[in-house]
Amino acid sequence: MTDVSDTTTDNPETAEDKTGSDFIRDIIRDDLASGKHAGVVTRFPPEPNGYLHIGHAKSICLNFGAAAETGGRCHLRFDDTNPAKEEQEYIEAIQADVRWLGFDWGDHLHYASDYFDQLYAWAEHLIETGKAYVDEQSADEIRESRGTLTEPGTNSPYRDRPADESLDLFRRMKAGEFEDGAKVLRAKIDMSAGNINLRDPVIYRIVHASHPRTGEAWCVYPMYDLAHGQSDAIEEITHSLCTLEFEDHRPLYEWFIENLPVPSRPRQIEFARLNITHTVLSKRRLMQLVAEDHVAGWDDPRMPTLSGLRRRGYPPEAIVDFCKRIGINKSYSVVEMALLDACVREYLNKHALRRMAVLKPLKVVIENYPEGETEMLDAVNNPEDEGAGTRQVPFSKEFYIEQDDFMEDPPKKFFRLGPGREVRLRYAYFVTCTDVIKDDAGNVTGLRCTYDPATRGGNAPDGRKVKGTLHWVSAAHAVEAEVRLYDHLFTAEEPGKGGDFLDDINPESLEVLSGCKLEPTLAEDHGTVQFERLGYFCADKDGSSDAPVFNRTMTLRDTWAKVQKKG
Ligand code: ATP
Ligand code: MG
Repeated sequence: MTDVSDTTTDNPETAEDKTGSDFIRDIIRDDLASGKHAGVVTRFPPEPNGYLHIGHAKSICLNFGAAAETGGRCHLRFDDTNPAKEEQEYIEAIQADVRWLGFDWGDHLHYASDYFDQLYAWAEHLIETGKAYVDEQSADEIRESRGTLTEPGTNSPYRDRPADESLDLFRRMKAGEFEDGAKVLRAKIDMSAGNINLRDPVIYRIVHASHPRTGEAWCVYPMYDLAHGQSDAIEEITHSLCTLEFEDHRPLYEWFIENLPVPSRPRQIEFARLNITHTVLSKRRLMQLVAEDHVAGWDDPRMPTLSGLRRRGYPPEAIVDFCKRIGINKSYSVVEMALLDACVREYLNKHALRRMAVLKPLKVVIENYPEGETEMLDAVNNPEDEGAGTRQVPFSKEFYIEQDDFMEDPPKKFFRLGPGREVRLRYAYFVTCTDVIKDDAGNVTGLRCTYDPATRGGNAPDGRKVKGTLHWVSAAHAVEAEVRLYDHLFTAEEPGKGGDFLDDINPESLEVLSGCKLEPTLAEDHGTVQFERLGYFCADKDGSSDAPVFNRTMTLRDTWAKVQKKG
């Protein structure tokens, strides 16, 4: 059960709404009103051991958002205390991702490693005040003597060694005299504490590894619990917002603040992490997907990483909107992926330029259209945004339509093309199918049509109506492209729930189409655009202007509406 008694609202679960009010913002507001703090300082503290995912976006939006709303500031702090797993590549990618979401840390880019000297001095202070000791037990022995939830732990035989002796050993640990794991520094708290985190936690360990920033300068590194809270205190963070798994660490967080001469007293407040259906939000698992080649990299467009979503064509505004809509609370939940999809669709519907592209082309020849002629037709860039203007698309005797837009023997409700039927070509003419061309196997390989020159622009002067409007691309002017269609990376709603998450990978998460036909304006990059009637798409870095590759960002179909109806 989650303890919410520490919060100032009676029921945090209902305290959130879509306007950016939630139990954490309530606490912040109260602290400002009571004069506890003159200003708000928060921080986003990633460990540079992987790329950020959309779960981190929730934390970023909360930390940067709550600070901005109250005229405060938010720091970006790298929690770089584990040199074995951390890399400069991640440090750079994380900064790019936070900026992409639209947030700015100003002058406040910090690193826990900036505080190594201070943290080390405080570790000595703990030893000198009898609150820490060097333990020489092995990692296994320490684990075994820690006890369980129902049984207290047992004291280390080194627990009561004199402070001088610990100090000497700690200095020799720092000087590099010992192997990794030979000794550790432990806080001396209480081996029978109900909270296992208080049973003499390890606070410094020996790691002989090169650090991305401090190089070989150190071979002892502080553990998370010591480094994190004290970094908060050094930076005068007022509200240290973290996810619920740190709730049991809060007493330890507070113990350090009580027992060290820190310059400020930050408060840790926990909120529930974001989970989304059909994906995984854990760096360890995402790392595994990359390392074992289940995806093409951290920025594979199927990944829930910010770099993956960016490459997929998701606008950052839609991700921020999503974070606002899910709100902040304290209870475990799994958010439907369809809600994120809906945010992306809503934004793109308003902002994406419309273009025409044919993914599975079927060639059509207009018998009565002049040979060798090209007309430029006006096409609306975005019906939702007049300011987006119009563009010209070339039309000629031969063009492509989608294979799916033709049926040789169509049922009554099929309002697209069939033998003898008339349809509108978007922005162009009415055409009537006169002939079906087939190969030896009986497959339809092309169509012949006639057009009505009086319907230029898409309306018949005689008032005659057609039910279907098709998109098309002029054959002579088409840009040929590869198009990648994506589906959920996992078939299961909660991957790994019943076993190994890798067993839930969707074998059909990627479909590659080649020979797709795009209108010529798509040779230039226009960000994420709508291919009319098909969905939203964006150019991928794997392509070039000669041979473009497009990612499908999102289909047009709104499954979220269905999910809501069901709920
Ligand atoms: P992961 O579990 O993916 O490895 P992490 O918590 O180890 O994530 P950090 O780099 O330590 O990754 O996270 C930086 C901040 O982002 C932390 O404050 C953490 O609580 C927060 N965060 C991480 N994952 C989520 C999530 N799914 N939802 C909300 N906040 C998250
Ligand atoms: Mg972490």
